[in-house]
Amino acid sequence: MELACLDLEGVLIPEIWIAFAEKTGIPELKATTRDVPDYDQLMQQRLALLDQHGYGLPEIREVIGELEPLPGAREFLEWLRRHFQVVILSDTFYEFAMPLMEKLSYPTLLCHQLSVGEDGTILDYHLRQPDPKRQAVRAFQLLNMKCIATGDSYNDTTMLAQAEAGILFHAPENVIREFPQFPAVHDYESLKQAFLNASTAQHD
Ligand SMILES: [Mg+2]
Repeated sequence: MELACLDLEGVLIPEIWIAFAEKTGIPELKATTRDVPDYDQLMQQRLALLDQHGYGLPEIREVIGELEPLPGAREFLEWLRRHFQVVILSDTFYEFAMPLMEKLSYPTLLCHQLSVGEDGTILDYHLRQPDPKRQAVRAFQLLNMKCIATGDSYNDTTMLAQAEAGILFHAPENVIREFPQFPAVHDYESLKQAFLNASTAQHD
């Protein structure tokens, strides 16, 4: 059996922190691991900024609820689910992603979690496990699933390497250059074709 493992942000939905920074006008929230390589430091900085601007989880969910999946994402996911079992492996948080998952008809999502106080303040974050995307693919392979994975960034590359086939989708030039072993595509039609090319099953 073949399983399609999808990154979420940049593949089906916009980058949540960047979109949130634009909606709220808090430019410092656009910082990513490229600007602050230490993930814990970056997250603590983000949580402090949210607190400082008075954003608790309810306000954040309201802003995220106004975001839409990327154009064509819904149709792509529908197509993919007809041909493969699908799981989304993401480094976002359930509490942030859920308003957008509704717009994608709630596909299976493995990601991280937040601790939230009774007043809605975000107190802390909890990673599901280290190297979570690759570990998920490893675990599926132990269940005799063959995995075809796609993602757009550095945090996807160990998953792409672990999978039976990896595809870069809409990745920046530097990632494509650094990982020439993965085919790189930029639109959903080409991504469908890349999945079919990587698949050993029959598809109508
Ligand atoms: Mg991504």
